[in-house]
Amino acid sequence: MIVRGKKRDILSSPDALARWWEEACKYHPDSNVVKGAGEPVTWDTDLLDAMKMVRMALRTLSAHVVEQHAVYEGDLEPLNEVLALGYPSLEGTGQGTMISVIRLRDAKIGAVLLPIVLFALRLFTEADWQRLYKCKNDRCVLFFYDTTKSGTRHWCSLGCMNRSRSIQHYRRTIEEKLLPIDLVNPGNPARPD
Ligand SMILES: [Zn+2]
Repeated sequence: MIVRGKKRDILSSPDALARWWEEACKYHPDSNVVKGAGEPVTWDTDLLDAMKMVRMALRTLSAHVVEQHAVYEGDLEPLNEVLALGYPSLEGTGQGTMISVIRLRDAKIGAVLLPIVLFALRLFTEADWQRLYKCKNDRCVLFFYDTTKSGTRHWCSLGCMNRSRSIQHYRRTIEEKLLPIDLVNPGNPARPD
C-alpha cells in the first residue's frame, strides 16, 4: 500500500498477516468454502513467507495479463502447489443430501492460502481479462478488477484518482510557468500538444 506517499508492506509480520486475514474474511465471507479454514491458524514466519510467495506469484500473473504477455508454466507453479494442498470432497448435510467441499491435506498453510488461490483461479479462468487493470497512479502498486458498467475505471480508489489528478494539475502548472512565452500570442504560455 501507499501510506503518506511511501510504499509500505502491510504484511510486515505474522501478526500483521493475521490482522489482514481477519479484514479480508469480512469482505469475503465465502472464504470458508475450504474445510479447516476458520479453525485457529498458527501465525508464524513460515506462513508469512508462504503468503509472500503467493502474493508475488499473483502479482507476476496479474502483470502478464494486464500487459497481454503470454503466461508461462513456471508462473503457475507456486499457485498450483497451493491448490495441491486441498482436494474436492463430498459431505452429507445430515438431511439426506450432500454438498461439495474442499478439504485440506495441509491445514497449517492451506487454511489461509488455499481460499486466496481459489479466488485467483476463478479470477484468471472465469473473469473478463479486459477488466483487470493496474492502478493508473504511478506510485500505487495495486491491481483491481473493474466492475463498473463501462469497464473504463483507471484508479483503484477515489483516493488514488484524486492524488493522480492533483499531481497532474501540479505538473501542468509547473510546465506552464517554465515554458517560454508564445511569440505569436505573447499573453499565452506555449502549451505542448
Ligand atoms: Zn491506486
